[in-house]
Amino acid sequence: MRQSQLFTKTRREAPQGEVSKNAQLLIRAGYVHKEMAGAYTYLLLGHRVLQKIIGVIRDEMNKIGGQEVFMTSLQDPELWAKTGRWSDEAVDIWFKSQLKAGGDVGLAWSHEEPLTSLMREHISSYRDLPRYVYQFQTKFRNEMRAKSGIMRTREFIMKDLYSFSTTEADFRKFYELCAQAYLAIFNRVGIGEQTYRTFASGGSFSKFSDEFQTVSEAGEDFIYVDEGKRIAVNKEVYNPEVLTELGLDKNNLKEMKAIEVGNIFPLGTRFSDALGLTYKDEEGKEHPVIMGCYGIGPGRLMGTIVETLSDDKGIVWPKSIAPFQVHLIELSNGNADVHNEAQELYRELTEAGVEVLWDDRDARAGEKFADSDLIGIPLRVVVSEKTLAAGKFECTQRSSGKTEYMSLPDLTESLAHAE
Ligand code: ATP
Ligand code: MG
Repeated sequence: MRQSQLFTKTRREAPQGEVSKNAQLLIRAGYVHKEMAGAYTYLLLGHRVLQKIIGVIRDEMNKIGGQEVFMTSLQDPELWAKTGRWSDEAVDIWFKSQLKAGGDVGLAWSHEEPLTSLMREHISSYRDLPRYVYQFQTKFRNEMRAKSGIMRTREFIMKDLYSFSTTEADFRKFYELCAQAYLAIFNRVGIGEQTYRTFASGGSFSKFSDEFQTVSEAGEDFIYVDEGKRIAVNKEVYNPEVLTELGLDKNNLKEMKAIEVGNIFPLGTRFSDALGLTYKDEEGKEHPVIMGCYGIGPGRLMGTIVETLSDDKGIVWPKSIAPFQVHLIELSNGNADVHNEAQELYRELTEAGVEVLWDDRDARAGEKFADSDLIGIPLRVVVSEKTLAAGKFECTQRSSGKTEYMSLPDLTESLAHAE
C-alpha cells in the first residue's frame, strides 16, 4: 500500500471530548473515525487490524470444533418473551423498533434465543451432540456510558460461541477447552501476560462464570489477582467464603483495575427448557440440552491492546495483528536513485508475501518518523541516500527501538522468522 494513496491522514491532536487513550491514538493515527459517542467507523488501517484479530479468534475456535455461522441482527419479540428477556425491565440495553408492516422488532444484543430455537431443527438425538456453533456478528446495546473509546460501544462485533452438550461432564470438558483457547488467543495478540482468568458471578445456573480480564488503568472492573497462580477474582464475587472455596489466600491477592476482554458462561438448561431444545438418549428418554456461551469482543480487544502496549509516541502493534508488517520510509528528497531503490524494495518484499506500507509521500523526515511511531507498524525500514551508500537498509523495531543495518536477504530472512 502506498501511503500517498491512503485516504486517511494522521493528526497531531485528538478530537475534543475524546477522553480514552485508545480512541485518541486510533483516531490520530487514522484507524477509526468517531461517528458519535459509542459509535466508531473502522477505516482501512483499523479494519485490517480488526480482521486480523478476528482471524486469530476464528483459528482458535475452529481448532476446538467450532462451526461458523452468521445470524441476523433482527430479533423476534415472541421468542425472547418465552425466556422473559424481551421486556425493558428484564433487559435494559435493548434497541427496539417497529416494523412498517406492524409489530415490534429488536436488534440483537446477544443470540441465545434465536440459536437455541434454530438448533431444535437439527438436534433430536444424543447422536447429534455435542455441537459448537459460533459467529462474528454485530451486537447492539444501548449502553448507559460510552467513555472507553472502542472498548465500550453501542454497536460492536462479538464472537459468540454456544455449546450444546448431553451431560454436565461433557459440557465442562468443552468449557475448559474453550478457556484454554481464550488464553491462547490473548497470548497470540500480545496481551497474554497481562490477562487473567477471573472468577466472576455466574447467574442462575452456575456459581461462577469465567471472565478474562486484562490489567489496565483504563479498565472499569476491579479484580483481585494472584500473580503466582495466574488467576483472579472479580470484586463482585470477592468475599471470604469464595476465597476459601477457590483456595486463595487474601494475603497473596492484589487489587487491580482491569478490562473484561472475554467472558465464558455456563447456561445449564435455562434456554433449552424455555424454548424446548431436547434430545433423546439411548433409551429414547428425552432430556434438555446443556448449554454454555462464550463471548469475546474483537473491538474491545483491539482497544485493550492499544491501551496496554502503546508508548508516549504512539501505538505498538504485535506482529500477529499489525495492519502491515513493514513501514517502508522513503527519504528520497527528489533523489531518483533513492526512490527507485525504495520502489524495488517494496516490490521485492510484497512479492515475498510481506505486507508493506510504503511512505512515498513528499514530506519531511521528521514528520514521516513521527507518523510511523504513531501508526505503530512493528518494523520500520528506511531507504535514504545514506542507506543507499551503505548498501544496507536501516531497520528499526517499533517495540524496542533497536536499529540494525540489513541487506535484503537478511531482512527477508528476519521477517520470515519474527514471531
Ligand atoms: P461489560 O460488563 O463490560 O458491560 P458484558 O459482561 O455485558 O460486558 P458480555 O455480554 O459478557 O459483556 O459480552 C462478551 C464480550 O463482548 C465482553 O467480554 C466484551 O469483550 C465484549 N463486549 C461487551 N459489551 C461490549 C461493548 N459495549 N462494546 C464492545 N465490546 C463489548
Ligand atoms: Mg461479561
